[in-house]
Amino acid sequence: LFEGPWDFVWASTRIDDLPPMVSQEIAFAGRSNVGKSSLINALTRRNALARTSHTPGRTQQLNFFRQVGYDERLTIVDMPGYGYAAVGKEKVAAWTKLIHDYLRGRANLMRVYVLIDARHGIKDVDGDVLETLDKAAVSYQVILTKGDALKKSEQEAVIEATAEKIRRRPAAFPEVLLTSSEKGLGIPEFRAAIARTLAE
Ligand code: GDP
Repeated sequence: LFEGPWDFVWASTRIDDLPPMVSQEIAFAGRSNVGKSSLINALTRRNALARTSHTPGRTQQLNFFRQVGYDERLTIVDMPGYGYAAVGKEKVAAWTKLIHDYLRGRANLMRVYVLIDARHGIKDVDGDVLETLDKAAVSYQVILTKGDALKKSEQEAVIEATAEKIRRRPAAFPEVLLTSSEKGLGIPEFRAAIARTLAE
């Protein structure tokens, strides 16, 4: 599923400008700086497929990636990072609308991976996103990032605490995965989890 070369295929800033639903889709969401670009790059083995937050132009749109001409069974969608304080209210409202419309109308969207910094856990702003996903009845899984910043015992504790926090959320997949893009921790497991989701 992840063997071939990934390409950037589409960017949308408006809901009437989404690419055709040619394959199953998974989407990545998370606060700015959570390590979303790094994780997408680690999964796809591409160094700069998803640009880091330092490239503002690409961060305000939905970016679509696919293995063009190779295995086109899967499209990866990079959603705009949220919770960035310096962004004006108007922009936040525009993003929120785009995200809501996308989540509600995308029949081929199999799961949203909500990335949470393992050092910080689920914050209020993340809780709002989980609430949105629950309301839209979009299946999602929480993925902890930057796991290398914690000791083994702390890693286990944060996995457990996070799983407990989402236990009653209706659209949450119960298993929480801990990853590190820098150290490759949990990346094969994450790829396997994605493959299982698509096979379901
Ligand atoms: P994005 O804004 O969510 O796309 O986050 P980036 O991928 O740009 O990463 C934000 C910051 O977190 C950068 O300074 C990265 O070096 C750092 N970072 C990303 N992944 C990891 C990781 O696995 N471990 C650690 N310790 N830092 C990471």
